[in-house]
Amino acid sequence: MKIICIGRNYADHIAELNNEQPDAPVIFSKPDTAQMRLGDAFYYPDFSQDIHHEVEIVLKISKIGKNIEQKFAHKYYDEIGVGIDFTARDLQAKLKAKGLPWELAKAFDRSAPVSEFVPKTDFADLQNLNFHLDINGETRQSGNTSMMLFKMDYIISFVSQYFTLKKGDFIFTGTPKGVGPVKIGDRLTAYVEDRKMLEFDVK
Ligand code: MG
Repeated sequence: MKIICIGRNYADHIAELNNEQPDAPVIFSKPDTAQMRLGDAFYYPDFSQDIHHEVEIVLKISKIGKNIEQKFAHKYYDEIGVGIDFTARDLQAKLKAKGLPWELAKAFDRSAPVSEFVPKTDFADLQNLNFHLDINGETRQSGNTSMMLFKMDYIISFVSQYFTLKKGDFIFTGTPKGVGPVKIGDRLTAYVEDRKMLEFDVK
């Protein structure tokens, strides 16, 4: 399986990092080794002193597809979850300054904790979903999927022009504002609407 991620998909987050608003989706990927198993802890890596949380809605691809038309994109995902796109912000800043790819900062082991998935039919409107991340019981990030620059169906269509999507692939759909550092001892809890979906410790 593969993990495809969308960067800069919420205007309020673009502004907080002083990035330019993209005219096409910003895409990167993480290998399957980035997935963190449910119940595991996130171990703070030695190569960074500034690991940031980015809470994101995650789509799980339900069947193989290539060059998917936007109007049919909804047929390619049945379930959604919530995940953290962990980012070594210090490394990413160095790579960005040199115009280099982000993989070392974004795709390392356990950089993609993901919740269990739930049927998308549990929610009335996927493009009007509230989600948030608490750290030690305090809300640090909250967003609503209505604020996405590129909507879920468009993302599926766009990505599938370049990568064949396969059953079990994950798509991270971007983070709202409020990204910030985590530290050893923190407990992260992510919610979709009022449903607690993901909880783990940083060790
Ligand atoms: Mg992200």
